[in-house]
Amino acid sequence: LVSRDNHPERSTIRVGGVPIGPGTVTLIAGPCAVETPQQTLQAAEMAKAAGATLLRGGAYKPRTSPYAFQGLGEAGLRILADVREQTGLPVVTEVVDAHDVELVASYADMLQIGTRNAQNFALLQAVGGIGKPVMLKRGMNATIEEWLMAAEYIAQRGNLDIVLCERGIRTFETATRNTLDVSAVPVAQRLSHLPVIIDPSHSGGHRDLVLPLTRAAIAVGADGVIIDVHPQPEQALCDGPQALVDGDLEELADVMRRFPALL
Ligand code: PEP
Repeated sequence: LVSRDNHPERSTIRVGGVPIGPGTVTLIAGPCAVETPQQTLQAAEMAKAAGATLLRGGAYKPRTSPYAFQGLGEAGLRILADVREQTGLPVVTEVVDAHDVELVASYADMLQIGTRNAQNFALLQAVGGIGKPVMLKRGMNATIEEWLMAAEYIAQRGNLDIVLCERGIRTFETATRNTLDVSAVPVAQRLSHLPVIIDPSHSGGHRDLVLPLTRAAIAVGADGVIIDVHPQPEQALCDGPQALVDGDLEELADVMRRFPALL
């Protein structure tokens, strides 16, 4: 279903009216985690100023440590819905448990499946049946074939509104959090008709890498990027070191505006 064999044209997916697909580079930006109404609104305004047309923000955070901030849950979803009202930006947010899919879908415009749940087949089937677009991150240990098969689980339930997101894979390298596999973009686009985007924030894990990796994403033909921004990253409850700050927004906006010239 997700293969390009029976569907040679590349697909465009619409999220609250915003297209993700060939011919455009969609910017999705916002806080890694929803912390407070004010922080989320400020981050959304930063995202919008940089040219974002979709807002990201996690209300359910899949953290490595059970002692780390786990997200605000439904209270976070309510904040995202309020900020959508205030900014007009449709909301992309992660769901980590099959039991929460209906609840998250009642607030979100797009459901995100994170790298740690990329082969959680019950969750993939649940989002496949809910009738909302899905962003499927690549498992950090998944081959491209495994990633596409995970997408197939969603598609099998009747949902072809899927965007693939390369977010870095595990390698021996420790200078970056994960290794961004830029070659995954053209390979996945050759094998599948689904749009493919890149997450330069979670792959690099460092603010300084986000803009260079965004340029790389655009140069390699990605259909979009998803980027963390935070008004006060030093106080962030999750992944502060990778969040772009106010001073980075102009350059990000410039990179996004000039994308056709980079091709
Ligand atoms: C995220 O985007 O909030 C996230 C946790 O990403 P990943 O699943 O790629 O680590």
